[in-house]
Amino acid sequence: MATTILTPKAALIDLTKCIGCRGCQVACKNWNARATKKTVMTGNFTSPGDMNSETYTIVKYIEHDKAQDVAWDFIKVQCMHCKNPACASACPVGAFTKTAAGPVTYEPEKCIGCRYCMMACPFGVPKYEWDKKYPVVQKCTFCAERIADGQMPACVKSCPPNAIIFGDYDRILAEAEQRIKDHPGLYIDHIYGKNEAGGTSWMYLSSTAFDTIGFKTNIPTKPLPDLTWGMLREIPYKVGGLVAVLAAIAYFRNRGSRVESDKEKEG
Ligand code: SF4
Ligand code: SF4
Ligand code: SF4
Repeated sequence: MATTILTPKAALIDLTKCIGCRGCQVACKNWNARATKKTVMTGNFTSPGDMNSETYTIVKYIEHDKAQDVAWDFIKVQCMHCKNPACASACPVGAFTKTAAGPVTYEPEKCIGCRYCMMACPFGVPKYEWDKKYPVVQKCTFCAERIADGQMPACVKSCPPNAIIFGDYDRILAEAEQRIKDHPGLYIDHIYGKNEAGGTSWMYLSSTAFDTIGFKTNIPTKPLPDLTWGMLREIPYKVGGLVAVLAAIAYFRNRGSRVESDKEKEG
C-alpha cells in the first residue's frame, strides 16, 4: 500500500563501483514496460547512443587511456530530479511536478507537445516521441510509485555491486561526503549534483574529472527556473495564444487516443 513520504529521497551513483553491466538499464525498461528500438553500431559500446522516449536511462561507455592501458568509465545517466526543476518551470500546462519525496513526476496526458521542457532542461533529459502519432515527452520517473510504496527504484535494486545507493537525501549526501573524506586518493573532491542547477536528487562520485567523462560542468549553481522563463519569453511569438491552441489540440488528441484505446479494449 502507498505510504506518505515526508522525507526527501536521493540516489548516489558511485562511478568507481560501476562495472558497466547495464542491469539498471534493463531493470528500468522492465519496470516501466518500455519498448525497444533498433540501434546501429557506431564504434561505441553505448547502446542506444542516448536516452530516448523508450529508454529512461542508459549506461555510457567512455574509453580512454590510463597509464598506457585502455580503461573504461561507465556512466549511468537519467533525469537528475532537480530540486528546482527547470522543466516544471518551463512547462506552460503544469505537466511536471517536484514531489516532496524527491521525484519530478510527469503527467503525459497534460502534455501539449510544445517541447519547452526539452529546451529548458540543462541535462538534456526529456525526449520526444518523434515516431508516435500523438507524441508527448518521456523521462525517468525516479520510480515514484515504488518510492511511495516504500521500495527503492528498480535500477537501484538491480545494481549488482551497489554502485547506486538510495535513501533519505541528508543521509545520502552525508555518505557521499564521508566517502570523499575517507578515500581522498580515490575520489575527486566534487559531488556532482550537490550544487549543479541548485542541487539535484541524483548525485555522482567519480575518480575522474567530470568534464572528461561527458558531464556538463558549466551548469550554474543557482536554481534555473528564474532564468528559464526569461529565456522562453524571448521566443518571438505569442506564447499565451500558442499554448491555448496547443492545449486544445492536446485535449482532442488525448480524447482521440482514449477513444481508440477503448475501442481496442472492446475489440
Ligand atoms: S534533469 Fe531536466 S527533466 Fe530532470 S528534473 Fe531536472 S530539468 Fe527536469
Ligand atoms: S529511477 Fe526508475 S525510471 Fe528512473 S532510471 Fe531508475 S528504474 Fe528507470
Ligand atoms: S546496474 Fe550498477 S554496475 Fe551495472 S551498469 Fe548500472 S550502475 Fe553500473
